[in-house]
Amino acid sequence: MLKYSRHHQPENTTVEVGTVSFGGSHKPVIIAGPCTVESEEQLLKIAHGVKKAGAHILRGSAFKPRTSPYSFQGLGLKGLKMLQKAGKEVGLPVVSEIMSVEFLEDFLEHVDMLQIGARNMQNFDLLKAISKTKKPVLLKRGMGATVEEFLLAAEYLLEGGNEKVVLCERGIRTFETSTRNTLDLNSLALIKLTSHLPIIADPSHATGRADLVPALGRAALAAGADGLIIEVHHQPSEALCDGKQSLTLEEFGKFMGKL
Ligand code: PEP
Ligand code: MN
Repeated sequence: MLKYSRHHQPENTTVEVGTVSFGGSHKPVIIAGPCTVESEEQLLKIAHGVKKAGAHILRGSAFKPRTSPYSFQGLGLKGLKMLQKAGKEVGLPVVSEIMSVEFLEDFLEHVDMLQIGARNMQNFDLLKAISKTKKPVLLKRGMGATVEEFLLAAEYLLEGGNEKVVLCERGIRTFETSTRNTLDLNSLALIKLTSHLPIIADPSHATGRADLVPALGRAALAAGADGLIIEVHHQPSEALCDGKQSLTLEEFGKFMGKL
């Protein structure tokens, strides 16, 4: 029997990251921060801002899966250490994307949660290696993955022994090109029914537009999401990655105030 299924386990799984709990209470977990760690100054400004607004986990990637090899690829290990330091300074656990098994030991040392990005959802060697750790994982849905493929990717983690899996619906590619992706709320509601794993939504990558993020974030929570991951930047127009979809600190504060 598949381990992700409610037939295997009827009650909700809760995943603890520091003092934060996914899937346990009715309170959504909000992950926020820049797409990419750019500098210590940038990161600290944003970290203090999202903490003040009420975020529970700080995000920021240092290893970036960029479509073009000419785009900023991230600060690497240096950035990961900056993230850890910023998290400690503001008192938030941190999550960052891991792209390769090569850096697994470093990630285990420096972050509280591993993000497996959409492009690596079916990187089976990565899934198998992470399944042998006890680190909480944020597994994002591949942009072209079916719900079954998404859940079977999670199954690799569960089967290998890591049960701390949080799923993330981040939008899929459809015929529609007016937004970056299409947030698949069907899948979110369906997965809540059929799986005991917590699932959050990413309205930033799903829409690609900051002005759509609040509405889709609220919609995902209404559909049963256990939390959200939201990109925030103190100066979106200057961001090295995903500025168009990043909320300013003010916009994020307003969004959190209304939640
Ligand atoms: C990200 O979170 O910045 C990211 C690259 O997301 P995804 O893997 O969903 O595209
Ligand atoms: Mn991004």
